[in-house]
Amino acid sequence: MKLSHIEHIGIAVQSLSEAIKYYEEVLDLKCYAIEEVKDQKVKTAFFNIGDTKIELLESTDPEGPIGKFIEKKGPGVHHIAFAVENIGESLKEAESKGVKLIDLVPRKGAEGLDIGFLHPKSTLGVLTEFCENNN
Ligand code: ZN
Repeated sequence: MKLSHIEHIGIAVQSLSEAIKYYEEVLDLKCYAIEEVKDQKVKTAFFNIGDTKIELLESTDPEGPIGKFIEKKGPGVHHIAFAVENIGESLKEAESKGVKLIDLVPRKGAEGLDIGFLHPKSTLGVLTEFCENNN
């Protein structure tokens, strides 16, 4: 597989508006997009930093993945996303190397990217996302 860079870091937050305020006013980054991803039960906000983005994640449903994460662990770093070439093949390759996958095949994530998650039990506790921009 070929990973080119860290596409984004996903951060679970209690309140998107509070978190945006911190990133904009303290870190002087600019939120360039807010998007709801309905099937993930999240609202996201994006910031560019070099080739990488910060993806803030606010739960829209306590039963959703981010709602459950915050209940268990509190707000904080949720996942790291690598840009990969040929995400479908990369997921298969990871599986063939013994990694448990959350997504066996890519699906659509925020910003229209094709994404797939590796299970944190197989990735030393770091929820890992592969993503590829096929737009
Ligand atoms: Zn992500």
